[in-house]
Amino acid sequence: MAELCRSALTCAGDPQIAELRVRQAGERERTYQALATAVGRDNGTPWGVVTVMRDITTQKELERLKSNFLSVISHELRTPLHSIGGFVDVILMGKTGPINELQRDFLETVKEQAHHLYQLIEDLLEFNRLESGQFQLSPAPVEIGTLIKEVVEAMFPVADERKVRLVNRVSVPTATVEGDRKRLRQVFINLVDNALKFTPAGGSITLQASAGAQEVVVSVQDTGIGIPEEEQARIFERFYQVDSGLTREHRGTGLGLAIVKHIVEQHGGRIWVESRVNEGSTFFVGLPYALPKEQLTVDLARLPSPRDLPPGN
Ligand code: ADP
Repeated sequence: MAELCRSALTCAGDPQIAELRVRQAGERERTYQALATAVGRDNGTPWGVVTVMRDITTQKELERLKSNFLSVISHELRTPLHSIGGFVDVILMGKTGPINELQRDFLETVKEQAHHLYQLIEDLLEFNRLESGQFQLSPAPVEIGTLIKEVVEAMFPVADERKVRLVNRVSVPTATVEGDRKRLRQVFINLVDNALKFTPAGGSITLQASAGAQEVVVSVQDTGIGIPEEEQARIFERFYQVDSGLTREHRGTGLGLAIVKHIVEQHGGRIWVESRVNEGSTFFVGLPYALPKEQLTVDLARLPSPRDLPPGN
């Protein structure tokens, strides 16, 4: 609480928000959302901080239940899907006897659909993990140029198949940031994969990066179908998909960008898009050089009692 007030005082008028977990002996833990703003005198110097505390314990509990439910269901669905995929593969390999063209065709569809369902479950699980804060970043120095090179190499076969040119203009090295390599790779794989999905054959995708004073900005630009202005903010919401004939042709969960946004924000970064319909879209990811400090949560039960503190505190 004290830290929240301090940061409200130093952040000139910007309201500060934190979740505070409060545990008192004999009572169950409660969660409060605290919003703190510095209140100023006429001459602009602050004289204090006003904090509004909202009890969000029930909401948190519901979120936890929903997240557990999703996680159990997804795990339960994964196992049978694995066997469906496995057995279809065995039949397609001809190990159970010869199959005709029509049967092969149908089995390929079963395999494709099972894969799609599997992808959906994976996305749901991943989103769930991110939303419920059940995962921790594994920070390490990540050289952005090398990471992008790796992503482009991994996506080349897909681009080739879709007849889209993949151009990497990011030099090695570009800059090193502190981050979770695997998650950051996932961010750029996802953005390039989207660009490929929404760019017709003959188009191109270009990756660029620039290292500024505060952050490294990586851009993924495509010459695809574009995103209408009124939809641009919404595409980062979970399950949101732009409703047009062409987009519906593509399979997806609508969770990709929500996951990407989560990961970028966990790194203290930002993501935004610039786009024009029928001309293309550019997604920008700005990553700071160092990870932000841990989120502010206070567990009163674990705070030392005054008699444990050294004199003067
Ligand atoms: P998914 O790709 O699984 O549908 P995403 O969250 O990754 O879900 O994307 C949400 C929606 O944003 C997509 O369905 C599509 O309508 C739109 N979109 C994302 N990337 C692009 C892009 N590069 N060009 C055009 N539309 C895009």
